[in-house]
Amino acid sequence: MTAVTAAPALGTLDPVDAWAVPGQERAVAVLRGAVARQEVGHAWAFVGPAGVGQEQAARALAAALNCPVAATPADAPCGVCDVCDRTFRGAHPASWEFSPVGAFHRIDDVRDQWLATAFRTAAEGRFKVLRIIDADRLNEAAANAFLKGLEEPPANTVWVLDIADPDELPDTILSRCRVVTFLPWRPAELEAEAVRLGLADPTDRALAVRAATGSPVALRRFAAPGGVDALRRHRAVLGELRDRGPGFALVAARALDDEVKQRLRVRAAENGRSMESEVRAILTEAMRDHDPAEGLFTALLARVGELGGVELELPERRTPVRGADLAA
Ligand SMILES: [Zn+2]
Repeated sequence: MTAVTAAPALGTLDPVDAWAVPGQERAVAVLRGAVARQEVGHAWAFVGPAGVGQEQAARALAAALNCPVAATPADAPCGVCDVCDRTFRGAHPASWEFSPVGAFHRIDDVRDQWLATAFRTAAEGRFKVLRIIDADRLNEAAANAFLKGLEEPPANTVWVLDIADPDELPDTILSRCRVVTFLPWRPAELEAEAVRLGLADPTDRALAVRAATGSPVALRRFAAPGGVDALRRHRAVLGELRDRGPGFALVAARALDDEVKQRLRVRAAENGRSMESEVRAILTEAMRDHDPAEGLFTALLARVGELGGVELELPERRTPVRGADLAA
């Protein structure tokens, strides 16, 4: 979450074209047209691979809605005033960005932060723009809580939902949003970025570019140390499973177990924790909003616990598991 008041920058900037989002001219035209016609509505779904310009587009939208200098209809923010400057830097109190903490957005965050912010009067600005990063990482409970904000939207509030995979989100949410498509990066653009990120080996680079499926964020993950090796191991297992059929399933499961163990070790080392406390942290996080009656998910969590050497006591009742229960 970011919403920070910062000292105003005093007219030292060159005018910028807020709407110049590379490769996303179509999405920008839709947004800009909606502002010009004063038909912005209250919810947008930015559908596309992560990191292809959603942040810039959301900030341009917020600046266009709040810039006090731009002419009316203000489809183009002035780009230089204090409001524009702070909005572009993600530091204007009418613009909010919420990221998932851990694997999912949590129901507590939806209630205590998203909705609380939406229904509170803004300190400044005509419109509040609330952007949900990785909105497809809402579990069912959190999505249901969020519906309240979408069904009874507060005045002058615009939700922007970044969604990489629309299938991961309940229709009840998506059907209340206006959808704008953000295009994936082209292979040549990803290739250039991979070079810049230091992926020197052409074979590694080609693999990372292919697996990134248009997302520079995914590409950065593969370009991190060990990223390509992990990708290769993962694909080898899945490839064999495909080629050799169900008979290979047990071998594949074992290989994937090894992969999970390896990733857990890396994560534990990065966080300076023992394997056991790392696994406990992951499980606590994953179960926070989770209904233990969802059998498959519970089974998966239990397996992660086993791999990390942590025995997980699964409650049978249908009440949410709090972190304290696991930490005990
Ligand atoms: Zn301005």
